[in-house]
Amino acid sequence: MSASSGGIPAGPDKSAACRLAVIGGTGVYDPSMLEGVREELVDTPYGPVSVRIGRLATGGARLPTDGEGRDRSIGGGRGPAADGGGSGAARGEEVAFLSRHGTGHAVPPHRVNHRANVWALKSLGVERVLATAAVGSLSRDMKPGDFVLLDQFLDFTRGRASTFYEGAKPLNPGAPRGVVHVDVTAPYCPDLRRVLADTAAELGVTCHPAGTYVCTEGPRFETAAEIRMYAQLGGHVVGMTGVPEVVLARELSLCYAAVAMVTNFAAGIADRPLTHSEVVEVMAANAANLRALFGRVLAALALAGGEQSCRCGEPVEVHGAS
Ligand SMILES: [Zn+2]
Repeated sequence: MSASSGGIPAGPDKSAACRLAVIGGTGVYDPSMLEGVREELVDTPYGPVSVRIGRLATGGARLPTDGEGRDRSIGGGRGPAADGGGSGAARGEEVAFLSRHGTGHAVPPHRVNHRANVWALKSLGVERVLATAAVGSLSRDMKPGDFVLLDQFLDFTRGRASTFYEGAKPLNPGAPRGVVHVDVTAPYCPDLRRVLADTAAELGVTCHPAGTYVCTEGPRFETAAEIRMYAQLGGHVVGMTGVPEVVLARELSLCYAAVAMVTNFAAGIADRPLTHSEVVEVMAANAANLRALFGRVLAALALAGGEQSCRCGEPVEVHGAS
């Protein structure tokens, strides 16, 4: 372990770090995407977090050939020979999968321990996070089954722990000291959003390039009047879990992007509500598309290494730490 900076975990040395992570629901995790999967319990100042870590494997992650005509698909085969081959930087890249609601959707939206989740990823050495969110649509243009690459949010949550910085005397032992007013003018990483948009286009998945996410406190759904208000305020989709996760990721200088998956029209938007079987159908199609999208994007990011033109990685300014 290298030294931490300002109370924030610096993560393991670069060579041992797991640089990429996915935060999502159970439908997102695809066992065939990873090899040699292990479950790690990561201690954080906010409690332990269970994370699945594995190496990028074959399947769903084929990439274009490079200039020499050599196929750079991820993992030419399985087993020790493939692992030791060394062709293609993506093969063997470790990826962390974190189930936001815990195993078996055990934690309701308003009680998700976002601070522990994001801290755990940082302490593993994660630099880039792809997140998912199941959402209702406020717009007739964004239909069930569509993806939306979020670029803004409106925060209607109440009383959630939305910062790591609780002043000079933090309540949680090991938590960082001080006060941070983090800049969230552009809360989602532009680099990651670009890769996601390009890859979705390659796959032929309907993916809206931008959208404003309304985060409600939940766990109840919204009234029709609330939905009308959110739409008037400029919201495009509504969910319960995306905030403060995105804010906390920025506090720890992580690149973070979120793909919203439209599962239904919000209250009062559609002429008729979806039937249960329609919702199940949309969810299944969404999950398959998302796995394909993330598989390709993770491989592309692994091949690209740590190169980035965004400014997400700049450290935040901490006031009053002593
Ligand atoms: Zn970034």
